[in-house]
Amino acid sequence: MSALIEPSGLLLIVSAPSGAGKTSLVKALLECDPDLVLSISCTTRPPRFSEQDGVHYHFLDRATFEKELAQGAFLEYAEVFGQLYGTRIEDVNRTLASGRDLVLEIDWQGARQIRARFPEAISIFILPPSLEELERRLRNRGTDSPEVIARRMDQARAELAHWPEYDYLVVNDRFESALAALQAIVIAARHRTARQRQYLQALLGEIAAP
Ligand code: 5GP
Repeated sequence: MSALIEPSGLLLIVSAPSGAGKTSLVKALLECDPDLVLSISCTTRPPRFSEQDGVHYHFLDRATFEKELAQGAFLEYAEVFGQLYGTRIEDVNRTLASGRDLVLEIDWQGARQIRARFPEAISIFILPPSLEELERRLRNRGTDSPEVIARRMDQARAELAHWPEYDYLVVNDRFESALAALQAIVIAARHRTARQRQYLQALLGEIAAP
């Protein structure tokens, strides 16, 4: 089992029910911020069309996932829609060692595990403007059958119920304003005194404490 190195950068958790637009928002957030790195999770779910191994997920068979889990390779993991998802400690360490900030796109169960271990992690929940709109978005994707959409709506309601556990709520009504809210949260988090203390040692050292 590998141990997690102490994070000096931000650990940013982003959760949302499927259809809330989380993936597009996170992608846009990363594109305009080179200091943010997306954690690539492992999953037993088969790749969707256009998903690449090692880019969107590390796609593992269940036996391999369970073996790694038993070896303590995961920082957090959860079962979602009957499939296993998890964040490898080794992958997180690689980013943290580079001094950059890490974005974890994980569900509420994983968010809980990360928060328990790192209370300073910042967690953001992305909400759809309404449940009707969420269902409309899931239908418009055109990738899932009505049964799968109905299951995803049930799962979405269950996921949405966990909003009170998060530090920030962002409604993805208009993409641009939701993105601006995410950027503002990251900027504010980077300016917290506890974090600035590490980066402004020279300046702060010159200023006498009262
Ligand atoms: P999807 O299969 O649609 O890509 O993801 C399904 C759900 O699994 C989403 O809520 C997503 O955030 C969550 N998920 C993806 N990777 C991880 C992970 O590493 N850990 C946890 N706990 N959830 C994850």
